[in-house]
Amino acid sequence: MSNPVNTTLLIIGGGPGGYVAAIRAGQLGIPTVLVEGASLGGTCLNIGCIPSKALIHVAEQFHALQGYAGDSPLGIRAQSPELDLDRSIAWKDAIVRKLTTGIGALLKKHKVTVVQGWAHIVDGKTVDVDPVAKGKAGAPQRIRCEHMLLAMGSEPAALPFMPFGGPVISSTEALSPEKLPKTLAIVGAGYIGLELGTVYRKLGVKVDVVEAQDRILPAYDADLVKPVHAALKSLGVGLHLQTQVLGLSEDGKGLRIQPPKAEERVLPAQQILVAVGRRPRSRGFGLSSLMLDMDGPAVRVDDRCRTSMNGVWAIGDLTGEPMLAHRAMAQGECVAEQIAGHTRHFVPAAIPAVCFTDPEVVTAGLSPQQAAAAGLDAIDGVFPLAANGRAMTLESTDGFVRVVARRDNHLILGWQAVGRGVSEFAAAFGQSIELGARLEDVGHTIHAHPTQGEAIQEAALRALGQALHA
Ligand code: FAD
Ligand code: NAD
Repeated sequence: MSNPVNTTLLIIGGGPGGYVAAIRAGQLGIPTVLVEGASLGGTCLNIGCIPSKALIHVAEQFHALQGYAGDSPLGIRAQSPELDLDRSIAWKDAIVRKLTTGIGALLKKHKVTVVQGWAHIVDGKTVDVDPVAKGKAGAPQRIRCEHMLLAMGSEPAALPFMPFGGPVISSTEALSPEKLPKTLAIVGAGYIGLELGTVYRKLGVKVDVVEAQDRILPAYDADLVKPVHAALKSLGVGLHLQTQVLGLSEDGKGLRIQPPKAEERVLPAQQILVAVGRRPRSRGFGLSSLMLDMDGPAVRVDDRCRTSMNGVWAIGDLTGEPMLAHRAMAQGECVAEQIAGHTRHFVPAAIPAVCFTDPEVVTAGLSPQQAAAAGLDAIDGVFPLAANGRAMTLESTDGFVRVVARRDNHLILGWQAVGRGVSEFAAAFGQSIELGARLEDVGHTIHAHPTQGEAIQEAALRALGQALHA
């Protein structure tokens, strides 16, 4: 064992939660060590948010060009496009490299010590980092700290009867295909299943999605996902709802499913992408020796991201749902500021969520159903994108923007939208809720014309009974 390193803050995990905490701690002058076993940037930058959005863009461009190879109403005619998958993957990987290198540079700039290796927790103030995992033989490095921040993230959940391996893949493998399968069956019509299912379908793969619930994206309200359902159908994605997955077919070339009220059948599948959620990475690494209070596999934290052990904090996917990068980042910043002595709580008025399907879905705050369930007397206003000029010029008229507000004082409680490009509404939605805006504030703000954002203003006006264009 080499000489122990002493630090004020020790962060385990260099994903969006851990690296943001480290940068903020560095800015605040807190001596900080960040331990990362794989690659800076974590799931999000390496095998999650960024690579998936890069491939969504590749697929969108390819699919749009294919549309021009036929009879396009826009008057554009193109030769039949071809895909060079190796170049697409190299382009995606270059974006990932650029971003992860940038994180390394930011950590250096803020004087954060980065230790490469897997941390094993000895006690609430001590870890040993095993350099062997990096292929370098040597003694473990002991690090002692005043504060320990757990930011170990999550890993794909497996189906016990169909573990990962061979044709059964997780999002990690699906994001770096060497070649495209002819047929892909996807288990789970959630974020990953539908984002990556759309990519593969647009690149020409026959895609079937199997979902246990009675609709796709069951975490969102039914009206919101209808345009996504319709678009997937017209893209030719097979949707098998309320359907149970039984396992691989005997020849290993298909997925056995049990549809509702019908015979068991086999979906042809050269590959099967299992996307049934992610599990906090709370097993191993000595975490259980701390005997922290848990919520199932997630580490339980209070409204300041404190665990049940003094001086041990936890953030991000390790602390459970919603498993979103921007939540992890906000928690990381919050913890660093508290360690610097600031009074901070993690009680956001809303955490926006976006599903990058085509059309996209974005939400922040409460839906009408959630407001009712919370006992709030709420009104809502819906504005269809079919009545928005910019949406027409973008061939993107399927969808709507909806606002939910208190009936008595018009305080905005939530926003939902579905449509092409509406992910960018997340900023306006989040700001209006966090700043305590009322319908009148948004309705009387001048929105630039022609933009899809005008639908935000119109939804607020509609809730007030004053919509101008519908
Ligand atoms: P992670 O990013 O998982 O980082 C944890 C890090 O800790 C990892 O780098 C890991 O190697 C390291 N680590 C773990 N244990 C140890 C140890 N013992 N020692 C050293 N290092 C350790 N979210 C969004 O908001 N928007 C999206 O568009 C989006 N798309 C996604 C697409 C996919 C395909 C996937 C899989 C996820 C997506 N997510 C998205 C979710 C997002 O990636 C996570 O919410 C986010 O990465 C969580 O950040 P984190 O810091 O908590 O953990
Ligand atoms: P998810 O929770 O979004 O969806 C899982 C789906 O699988 C659900 O619809 C569920 O009903 C279904 N399911 C579960 N067990 C099943 C079974 N045995 N058979 C059939 N269906 C089954 O999970 P995910 O898509 O794996 O994504 C994991 C997490 O990653 C998400 O919760 C999200 O936090 C994050 N993520 C976010 C984004 C984004 O923000 N755009 C994108 C990708 C992933």
